[in-house]
Amino acid sequence: MGRVSRHDRIATGLIEWGSGSLRDLPWRRTNNAWHVLVSEVMLQQTSVTRVLPKYENFIAEFPTPGHMANASLGDALALWSGLGYPRRCRNLRETAIVLARDFDGVMPSTLDELLALPGIGQYTARAILAFAHRQDVAVVDVNVSRVLSRLEGEPLKARALQQLADQLVPEGLGWDWNQVMMDFGARHCTVRSPQCTACPVKKQCKWHGVGDDPAPLSAGASKPQAKFEGSDRQARGRAMRAVNDGVATQKAIVRAMNLEHDVERATKLLEALVNEGLLLRSGARFTLP
Ligand code: SF4
Repeated sequence: MGRVSRHDRIATGLIEWGSGSLRDLPWRRTNNAWHVLVSEVMLQQTSVTRVLPKYENFIAEFPTPGHMANASLGDALALWSGLGYPRRCRNLRETAIVLARDFDGVMPSTLDELLALPGIGQYTARAILAFAHRQDVAVVDVNVSRVLSRLEGEPLKARALQQLADQLVPEGLGWDWNQVMMDFGARHCTVRSPQCTACPVKKQCKWHGVGDDPAPLSAGASKPQAKFEGSDRQARGRAMRAVNDGVATQKAIVRAMNLEHDVERATKLLEALVNEGLLLRSGARFTLP
């Protein structure tokens, strides 16, 4: 029998860890590339628990790119409300329009074609290939980056991370592998409390919790989020929610933003939302586009 390589042991250990313990999530039950794209875009900056109900509603309303392309941006933003970062919704609609117009509503299945779509970067393109088209490519998110740099015991640059991740994908198991890696990073090899003692790949892990953690210096490592309370992000979110709830006048929106003491800042933020195409202004009244 041939020698079992370190990579094989890592793959086997982690696939075994994942078998039977993967979280049951609706986007894991589908091969529909549009649905996978919607879930990936929603999950980019929002937690699974907040995404779950929104995803179900969104897919029910926009089951194909054509449905979203034919709806107004305002209708899409109303469904998006509560997820934050509404620019993602606007970009997703731009992708839907191109898919409906140039691809007959069918998601392409090559990396180059996917990367040419508006708003789709390396991560999302690979996620579509792995999760919808079931290709053996590796998806490197913040969790995967952390696990890989710890396994190697050193910080890794983006290219090295992707190379290593691609080498580790067990043949024919790309879908399972990527789901397992993400769950393993999110639930076992976590930022603050990696469970090294009970880890299935402890013997193969060069860091295993001893000495300086190499993950924070690796490409794609999570940066500490800027404080949300009192931030522009919070005020923008409040403005979008207020308009979605039917609040229309600038004065009332500024009140909803909690910025009556700083009308200048509120006005700048509202102007930015208008410039980004996320709000429409008519005089001193605002609506969704
Ligand atoms: S031994 Fe610790 S650091 Fe290494 S992969 Fe396992 S949980 Fe992560």
